Amino acid sequence: MFDTHELGRRPGALQRVSRSVEAPGSPATFGIEGVIGVPEGASVKLDLRLESVMEGVLVTGTARATAEGECVRCLEPLHQEVAADFQEMFSYPDADDRSRTRTAEPVDDAEDEDTLFLEDGLFDLEPVLRDAVVLALPMQPVCRETCAGLCSECGIRLDENPGHHHDAADIRWAALQGLAETIKDGEKDNMGGAEAGVDEKQEK
Ligand SMILES: [Zn+2]
Ligand SMILES: [Zn+2]
Repeated sequence: MFDTHELGRRPGALQRVSRSVEAPGSPATFGIEGVIGVPEGASVKLDLRLESVMEGVLVTGTARATAEGECVRCLEPLHQEVAADFQEMFSYPDADDRSRTRTAEPVDDAEDEDTLFLEDGLFDLEPVLRDAVVLALPMQPVCRETCAGLCSECGIRLDENPGHHHDAADIRWAALQGLAETIKDGEKDNMGGAEAGVDEKQEK
């Protein structure tokens, strides 16, 4: 809950607030279930700008936190900094009554639910933060953009096993390995080289 009493109700009044809050736990976490999210109790840093306007308080801000999840390609745990910008209007309950009677149009139920109100000068930012943070999270988080993921054949992590291949590709890799060993050992012993080296040896 945030207090707007210090801000007052004079339109045009401004107040900046910096505060850290703790991310809530289940079921209302700041995250995408099973994908990525800000863990319960983790610090969420808020920089807010409260602006008093005629019908209420306009809140503009940025939330910063570290989300945890796992890479969708290689399943390794990952941490990602998120910065979520948001802006929300919190109306005075009485101001809303006035605007409602002023407008001849019938009150739209969905729109009505979206209106957030100040209660005794307090507002609850948590639902706003949740929406903003979840929107800022990647739906397909990756440990890094170039993550090659897992081998579709055997499931090992390709980034940790460069050149890993199966079947026909395996033979080419073996040839390269054989070549590398040949360079290291010089000409004295390449008998232990790969099968692909056999042709060359026969020519000598
Ligand atoms: Zn990865
Ligand atoms: Zn494999």
